Amino acid sequence: MPKRLLTDLSRDELTAWVESTGNASYRADQIRRWIYGKRVNSFDEMHDVSAGLRNLMKEEFELFGSSTVRHQVSKDGTEKLLLEMKDGEHVECVLMREEKRQTVCISTQIGCAMGCVFCASGLLGLKRDLSTGEILDQILRLDRLLTSEERITNVVIMGMGEPLANLKNLIPALLTLNEKGGMGLGARRITVSTVGLPEKIKELSEMNIPFNLAVSLHAPNDDLRNEIVPVNKNIQLERIMQAADDYFDKTGRRITYEYVLLAGVNDADKQAVELGKLLKHRNAHVNLIPMNEVAPLSLEAPSSPRTNQFVETLRSWNVNATVRKRKGADIDAACGQLRLAEQTNETPEVYPLEINT
Ligand code: SAH
Repeated sequence: MPKRLLTDLSRDELTAWVESTGNASYRADQIRRWIYGKRVNSFDEMHDVSAGLRNLMKEEFELFGSSTVRHQVSKDGTEKLLLEMKDGEHVECVLMREEKRQTVCISTQIGCAMGCVFCASGLLGLKRDLSTGEILDQILRLDRLLTSEERITNVVIMGMGEPLANLKNLIPALLTLNEKGGMGLGARRITVSTVGLPEKIKELSEMNIPFNLAVSLHAPNDDLRNEIVPVNKNIQLERIMQAADDYFDKTGRRITYEYVLLAGVNDADKQAVELGKLLKHRNAHVNLIPMNEVAPLSLEAPSSPRTNQFVETLRSWNVNATVRKRKGADIDAACGQLRLAEQTNETPEVYPLEINT
């Protein structure tokens, strides 16, 4: 029998398992504290759990669902892991450091079905969803890269895949991130980024936990968005904007709109004006992301003056806008790039490269 991944179990499920072994239920919280709070790497490090219960856990469960096959460290302190799951599939996750802030970016699927034309993750289609434990595994692995003074302060679900297309497995992971007995991160420190799936946005709002929502817009009208984000043909902007407005009404959290700037495609003043009109009466923040180059694609980022002009035009419509800082550019930190290179057997240029299994 293959062992189960311990982090696939919710708090209630782990409690039920602990009770089924004849142990007191509070042991489940102890175990969770070791995993999420104290960064242990083995069951044997859980000192206040009896040897008998530790042995039962070892027979039944794996503590980690992946092994690290690549560990890259950028000059700016960003670190990126390529994790190999039990079935040999690869997942990317990133740790970004800023003063007093450690943000991790994690994936929810292997590949992606959305097909956004500029994105590396979708180039090979969707392989499968990640399980709850596999989503959390990335957090655990990145957490163990931190020094004892550092801790994860923010989580962005902006890695490979469409998080809301795997909401079933994401919800228990979000709960563990948020719970006191889990990672204990406030909801406002957790951001879910979506291509914009209206029913799923509603479902997320029904958790009644005010997570940040980021909607990847990339175009201010359906004609252009249909070209850049092919799934838009079945959705349409109006429904996305309605769902985002409802999310704001329900949670009070200002919505972020992501907009990847593609030179000559969606970066003209005309589009900035249209975007300004779309958002001026909304409580919104626009995060402009200059396109990160993806090897097989010919799309590229606009020049800095063009980018700045786009920002200024948006601001002239009273829309709050910033340009995303590039982090880990020297290690291909935009998610999906490393897995793509691994799949196509190209060796990405990286600095410096450390292998850590
Ligand atoms: N599927 C989700 C989350 C994953 S992508 C979504 O669409 O939001 C996270 C963000 O990175 C999205 O805004 C996405 O459009 C952006 N992104 C993907 N590939 C990129 C690239 N090559 N350059 C810049 N941003 C990219």
